Amino acid sequence: MGHPLHANGCWFERRLSVASARESSALFLDRDGVVIEDEGYLADPKKVRLIPGAREALVVARAKGWHVALVTNQSGIGRGMYGWNEFAAVQAAMMAALGDAAATIELVAACPHYPSHPWRKPEPGMILAALQALGADPAKSWMVGDKAADLKAGRAAKLAGGFIVGTGEGRNERAGAMACGGNGFALRSIDSIAALGPWLKGAGAS
Ligand SMILES: [Mg+2]
Repeated sequence: MGHPLHANGCWFERRLSVASARESSALFLDRDGVVIEDEGYLADPKKVRLIPGAREALVVARAKGWHVALVTNQSGIGRGMYGWNEFAAVQAAMMAALGDAAATIELVAACPHYPSHPWRKPEPGMILAALQALGADPAKSWMVGDKAADLKAGRAAKLAGGFIVGTGEGRNERAGAMACGGNGFALRSIDSIAALGPWLKGAGAS
């Protein structure tokens, strides 16, 4: 099975069936612990469970004309625990669970490398490559994550700001994540991805 791999060994998938967004704003979503429950090195599609509100948040993002990209560290691959076929199966299960809302995800990037790589969060490589591919403006774009590394990557990519969620590892990581704020990077703490819909509808997302 052919997978959409970048020359550097990372997954980099443009989902070309998706209509392109109207705005130059992008929402970068971590996957495990943000969109789906963090099962720890998830390789079994039967264990995919959406976090409540994920579907609705994606629908609002698209209604507002935003780009949406998934940026996920998958060190389970680099550690030899599973492979791209398992990653693809989990992705397919997540997209199926999202239903119509899956069509809002324009790009998926996944970094298998461990322990470090320019695309592995907290490094900004995946976000920078996605910004370029989408033609999005970092100053109008936000990162959503459950770990400090997610927010560090967003800050390093010079995004407008980031959200630390309380799902996944978010409760343990909140203090470290909040320390990433400042110097032009706005940090907000939210209970879960479900809070993004109302935020996107509000003035902060115009
Ligand atoms: Mg995560």
